[in-house]
Amino acid sequence: MYEFAVTPAITQLRRPGVTITEVTPDSLGDELELQPNDRIVKVNGRSVRDYLDFRFQTAGETELTFNVRKPSGEVLEIEFDREEGEDFGLMFEQIVPRQCANECLFCFCKGNPADARPSLFVRDEDIRLSFLYGNYTTLSSITDDEMNRIIEQRLSPQYVSVHATDLKTRAYLLGVDESHANIFDKFQRLLDNDIEIHAQVVLCPEINDGKQLEKTLRDLAAHYPKVVSTAVVPVALTRYNTDERLTRVTPEFCRRTIRDVEKLQKEFRRTLGTTFAFLGDEIYLKGGVEIPSRRHYGNYPQIEDGVGMVRSFLNAFDRLLRRSKAEPPALAGSGNVRTHRFAMKPRGSAIQSSPPAYAGGSALNGTILTGEMFAPILGAQIAEYNRLTGSKLRVLSVPNTYFGGDVSVAGLLTGKDYLAIADKIKGDFAIIPKHTIKSDEPILLDGMMFDELKSKFPVPVYDLDINGLIEYLSR
Ligand code: SF4
Repeated sequence: MYEFAVTPAITQLRRPGVTITEVTPDSLGDELELQPNDRIVKVNGRSVRDYLDFRFQTAGETELTFNVRKPSGEVLEIEFDREEGEDFGLMFEQIVPRQCANECLFCFCKGNPADARPSLFVRDEDIRLSFLYGNYTTLSSITDDEMNRIIEQRLSPQYVSVHATDLKTRAYLLGVDESHANIFDKFQRLLDNDIEIHAQVVLCPEINDGKQLEKTLRDLAAHYPKVVSTAVVPVALTRYNTDERLTRVTPEFCRRTIRDVEKLQKEFRRTLGTTFAFLGDEIYLKGGVEIPSRRHYGNYPQIEDGVGMVRSFLNAFDRLLRRSKAEPPALAGSGNVRTHRFAMKPRGSAIQSSPPAYAGGSALNGTILTGEMFAPILGAQIAEYNRLTGSKLRVLSVPNTYFGGDVSVAGLLTGKDYLAIADKIKGDFAIIPKHTIKSDEPILLDGMMFDELKSKFPVPVYDLDINGLIEYLSR
C-alpha cells in the first residue's frame, strides 16, 4: 500500500495523436476531407498528445501541415492555408485523466459504496483538467514535462489542493512521504512564471484547522495576487469513511472556524483589498450562520467549489421576486399567457418531452427536490414566489441514505434517495438537481438510469440546475 502511495502517478500509455470525433459539414476540416476516427498525430512537425496540444500548436498559425493517421493505418501529410482565426470545425476525443498517486485520508473514493458508478472511483489529478474544468490537483506527483507544459502553454489558472503549508501536516493528509508532499518549489516556479493559482483547503478538524489553518491562509495570502484565492471546504464523511484519524465536522466547529477566519478575512480585505480566503457555503449552513453578502465574494472566484453558490442563488432569486412583484401573474385563462419554457431537455425516449403541466397562467403546481442542507433556503424563497404568483410549488428535502454520514448536499443525491420519498411528491411534475445526473450520460450516482427513475416517479420528472430553475421560474 505504501509503495503504491509513493509510486509516481501513472501516465496512461496512449497512442500518439488526438482522434477526431466529429467534423462539421462545410467546415475547413470537411474541406480537408478529415473524418471521424482520423487521428492527427503532428501539427507542423510537432507531436500532438491531446486536443489542448492541437489547440496550442494551431493557435495563430495560418500555414499548416497535419500528419493524419487514417483508421486503415495510412498516414497522410496535409498542407494547407487557413484564414486567421478560421475554425477547423473539428471535435475531438475527451482527455483521459491522469491518476493521482496519493492516499488522502479523506479521499472521496473511500467514501463511495462499492456499487457506485465506476467513474466515481477515478482519482484524477491532471493539470489539463485543472486548467479546463477547474479540477484540483495536489501537484505532488507532477512531472517536469507537465510543469513545462503548464508554463509553455500558459495553462493558467491552475487549481491546487494545498490543504496545509506545514509539510508534515500536508504529508499526513495526502498519505505520502514529505518529499512527495513538498510542492513548494514547484508552486513557486509556477508563480514565478505568472501562472495564477486558486488554492483549496479541505478542512479536517483536529488536523489542519485552528493555528494550522491560519498559517496556511497567511502563507498563501503572501503570494496574492498570483495566488488569487483560497477556498476552505469542510471534509464530508459518508458512512463508509471509517478512518479513525478523521473527526466529523460539527456545527460548533463551523461556528469556531467562521469566527477565526473572519478575523483573517477582515485583515486581508484591509491589506490586500480582497477577502482572499473563502469558506465553503456548507460551513455557514451547518453552523447556522448567515451567508455573507455579495461584496464578500467579489467575483465568486471559487463558486464551482461550493463557495458563494448560496449567496449567488439568493441574489438571483431576489431579482426574480422583485420582477414578480412588479409584474403580477396573469390569471389562468386570461389570454395574457407568459410562456414558460423548461431549460432542461429530457434525455431518453420514454420521457415526456413537453414542459410540466402549466395551466395557462403563471401558477405552477409541482415539487422541487433538493438536499437537506439547501432545502430550508430554497423552501423560504419558493414560499415567497408562491405568495407572489399564486403557484403551488413545494420543496422536498431528500435525506441522503445512499452515502449517509454527513452528506446532505443536493449534488450527491441518488436514484434510491429520490425513490425513497417518491410518495411525498405532489402536483403535476417534479424537479431534481441537474448535477445529480452525469453530464454526458443520463445516469445517477448509484448507477440508476434517469429513465428508470422517471418510469418509477408518479409524475414527470425534470432535471434543472439552480440557474435553470430560476430561468424557468422567471418566464
Ligand atoms: S482526494 Fe484527490 S488527490 Fe487525494 S487520493 Fe483522492 S483523488 Fe487523489
